[in-house]
Amino acid sequence: MPKSVLLSDGLADKYAGLLKCPICHNSMALINKKSLICRDKHCFDLAKQGYVNLLSHGIKTKYNKQLFEARKLLAQSGFFEPLNQLLCTLIGNLMNNSEGKAQGPSLNIVDAGCGEGSHLATIQQKLLQSRGIQPLGVGMDLAKEGIQMAARDYGSILWCVADLAQCPFGDQQFNVLLNILSPANYSEFARILTDDGLIIKVVPEKDYLKELREILYKETAKQDYSNAKTRELFENHLQLCKLVPLRYSVTLDQPLIGNLVQMTPLTWGAEETRIAKVLKLESLEITIDLTIMVGQKREERS
Ligand SMILES: [Zn+2]
Repeated sequence: MPKSVLLSDGLADKYAGLLKCPICHNSMALINKKSLICRDKHCFDLAKQGYVNLLSHGIKTKYNKQLFEARKLLAQSGFFEPLNQLLCTLIGNLMNNSEGKAQGPSLNIVDAGCGEGSHLATIQQKLLQSRGIQPLGVGMDLAKEGIQMAARDYGSILWCVADLAQCPFGDQQFNVLLNILSPANYSEFARILTDDGLIIKVVPEKDYLKELREILYKETAKQDYSNAKTRELFENHLQLCKLVPLRYSVTLDQPLIGNLVQMTPLTWGAEETRIAKVLKLESLEITIDLTIMVGQKREERS
């Protein structure tokens, strides 16, 4: 059975200290090495896999176990390696720039919408190997199936099932918030981020998975994709510090082509015959076209 970081010697209090009750917003403490409980006695048990479910009610998502397994296999093949490397560099540079500041060397990272957790786990490992930085990592996702898989495979991170609209964390607990190919809730993000913290959001550009899009949606309205609204929303809420483009391509063989088809919501509305066509390919060169948006909270105007 994997051990939760909430049960680790030395770090348990630090992790528990980041959390607050999603129902009454009071702080929480771990009791009997098995439950998080707040002052008003709202109680959340650690699951046997080591994660904690901080939803006040059950929510079903369209993201199932099969999708997360496929995404994990694709991630393990190196599909997101250049992205994870770039995110690691951005975070590492932030730490260099803040040396000597009052916040010192501590780094708390939350991945909001972490899915099966491989981005955060990879980044945490890279930061340790390349910079000697051991961040306190927290991954949250609405999909229990993703969090269960993350907890199964990566023991050095606190994994929570939680709702972005009611992040179960206290104010200003994180210096870095990752939001990778996932929806955002900017008012909650700003609340849980320190004043000099960074929000790093990864959004798809128009050529992201374009070869797949072409087969699935040729001559339909879904063939083209624009992120203009996503970018506008980001800039409405945050001070945009930096836009970093990232474009590369990978060649997939079977069974990774099948994993790609399973992992992306792009296939949800596609015709079966077109999906079957993709699944018959022996090899597929696919474009990963992304922008990394780095933002900070706007200064409060008094
Ligand atoms: Zn409570």
